[in-house]
Amino acid sequence: MTARLLEMSRCGSCHAGFLPRPGACPRCGSSEVGTTELPPRGTVLAATELSAPATGWTSPHRLALVEIAEGIRLLAVVSRELPAVGDEVTIALEGSVYRVL
Ligand SMILES: [Zn+2]
Repeated sequence: MTARLLEMSRCGSCHAGFLPRPGACPRCGSSEVGTTELPPRGTVLAATELSAPATGWTSPHRLALVEIAEGIRLLAVVSRELPAVGDEVTIALEGSVYRVL
């Protein structure tokens, strides 16, 4: 299964890379922000399983903190067994939720 590329934003002033979000650059405040794409791969920094997740999520609810290119970190829902720290994983964006495939 091939995952689509992930979008990221890059500031045209300070060149910071960050996940797409409305508004100005979170580092320098410039409104000169463009969009580019990244490979949907990352390294697991941490992972956990919640036995009492927030309303709307089923238990067990597994989450992983994943670092992708440019040092960008995102929290992703894990729909399979919990990955280990250091594992290389593929990420997909489904609606507004990042998922570990
Ligand atoms: Zn900036």
